Amino acid sequence: MKNTDIQTLIAEYPLVKQLIDLEEVSWFNPSVTTLEAGLPYVGLNASDVKQAEQRLNRFAPYLCKAFPETQVTNGIIESQVVAIPAMQKTLEQRYGIDITGKILLKKDSHLPISGSIKARGGIYEVLTHAEKLAIQAGLLTESDDYSKLFSEEFKAFFGQYSIAVGSTGNLGMSIGIMSAKLGFSVSVHMSADAREWKKQKLRSHGVKVVEYEQDYGVAVEQGRKEAESDPNCFFIDDENSQTLFLGYAVAGQRLKAQFSEMKVVVDENHPLFVYLPCGVGGGPGGVAFGLKLAFGDHVHCIFAEPTHSPCMLLGVHTSLHDHISVQDIGIDNVTAADGLAVGRASGFVGRAMERLLDGYYTISDREMYDLLGLLNREEGIQLEPSALAGMPGPSRVMADAEYLKRMDLTPEKMSNSTHLVWATGGGMVPQAEMEKYLATAKI
Ligand SMILES: *Cc1c(COP(=O)(O)O)cnc(C)c1O
Repeated sequence: MKNTDIQTLIAEYPLVKQLIDLEEVSWFNPSVTTLEAGLPYVGLNASDVKQAEQRLNRFAPYLCKAFPETQVTNGIIESQVVAIPAMQKTLEQRYGIDITGKILLKKDSHLPISGSIKARGGIYEVLTHAEKLAIQAGLLTESDDYSKLFSEEFKAFFGQYSIAVGSTGNLGMSIGIMSAKLGFSVSVHMSADAREWKKQKLRSHGVKVVEYEQDYGVAVEQGRKEAESDPNCFFIDDENSQTLFLGYAVAGQRLKAQFSEMKVVVDENHPLFVYLPCGVGGGPGGVAFGLKLAFGDHVHCIFAEPTHSPCMLLGVHTSLHDHISVQDIGIDNVTAADGLAVGRASGFVGRAMERLLDGYYTISDREMYDLLGLLNREEGIQLEPSALAGMPGPSRVMADAEYLKRMDLTPEKMSNSTHLVWATGGGMVPQAEMEKYLATAKI
């Protein structure tokens, strides 16, 4: 963008100046609407999510066999919710603010198979594609026991097809591991931020890893190109895929069931706040969609991004969506939060979800590292930097009196509230890498 265009943008949206200055900012969306008013813009509905849930149920017997670590949950890939009371106290001290209500942590970091939130959408899209191919070939019907897919015969069948994806790391891990297990030939196009150990792990699963010195956007474009030249190759489009989005959305009803077992109440007087780290937007967008369907207007979803990669905040705030990137305004998109290192947001997710999201904020790399160290010290839970982005969320909400008043979130309601920090990754980080992360924390 020309400098004069940036100045014009800043004149209309002063917040953009703070983004350019890499300040930590919070923006609570003044035009957030009810589920009823916002839902038509999503273009997907509860029955689409239901179908995704049923598809994952059909695949559960297969996953049980292919990944024995999923046997404890009968082949359902789901994570635990835990309270983090010591961390809650530490956050209150650190930010100098009372956080009323209770902070819980959603441990997608410890999801089986790939150790990140991508085990939801990524795996779901691969399974959807495999099911379609097998049904079209007359090898499978929906009423079959899908454990039959765990066989040499099916591996040979899927071996005729290939899958390609572009990724900053975790999506590649999910798609790569799942596709290779089914028998697909799979290539993962990795951006410069992707960690070496993730590439090695994928290669050990027989995945073809293509490395780039550029960012995520370039890796995705190359993956797309490879797929275009081969009719048997399916490209998983992280920027626009509704299938991925629906895979993530299944989390909503699952969380509702977990909350009812834990006796966590969500209603008019017991609001739920959910803090979701955002990269391109599919993961947090899909989860937020599922949460909205499950809890209606009583859930308030807030996205968190690195100060160096605030693509969704920039796109939604200026209504330019995927027509603007952080690089356009001179931000480098270089962050330790590799899962969030995305310069241009998904146009689909921003446009679909903007009416249903309460807010967005940014967090510095320094802060993510320190929170990583604090969570380890206070709770013994180890996450990757991206997964800490949601942690300051409760303090940002508590600090914004205008937002709380506008949404009629009274002190009484806030004292009954639940703050759910979505921990999106880190469970498979090798110990030596984790030691480096922990050493970077200044606590
Ligand atoms: C991918 C990822 C996210 C964000 O998901 P998007 O779909 O890219 O927005 C958050 N945290 C981690 C650890 C991730 O890998």
